Amino acid sequence: MSTIFQKIIDKQIPADIVYEDDRCLAFRDINPQAPTHVLVIPKRAIRSVAELEASDADLIGYLFVVVRKIAEQEGLSNGYRTVINSGRDGGQTVDHLHIHLLGGRGLAWPPG
Ligand code: AMP
Repeated sequence: MSTIFQKIIDKQIPADIVYEDDRCLAFRDINPQAPTHVLVIPKRAIRSVAELEASDADLIGYLFVVVRKIAEQEGLSNGYRTVINSGRDGGQTVDHLHIHLLGGRGLAWPPG
């Protein structure tokens, strides 16, 4: 079944896209939890960290390089947080792997 993020990749529904290339897409979260809240996703449909294969290692590493570029683009020089929720207990609500990039304010720890 097609997820909402697949529809964003396919340009069937709009999103505030901040970065795109052949392997990944990054767009602003519709319900931001910080002044900067961007989701970085692979274009290939991988459901979650729990479904990663060894052959996905390059792609996942690349997503973090993109995170770093976007953090610079967003001016997050004081730092930021990356989060990947996985599965029900992890709080994952969209079954297409995504990295949350949060910044622009001090973030508490531990998370809820
Ligand atoms: P997670 O709970 O980790 O699966 O994160 C899913 C995130 O996707 C949430 O932070 C939602 O606010 C966000 N989200 C859901 N639908 C959209 C959408 N159409 N455009 C942008 N962000 C979305």
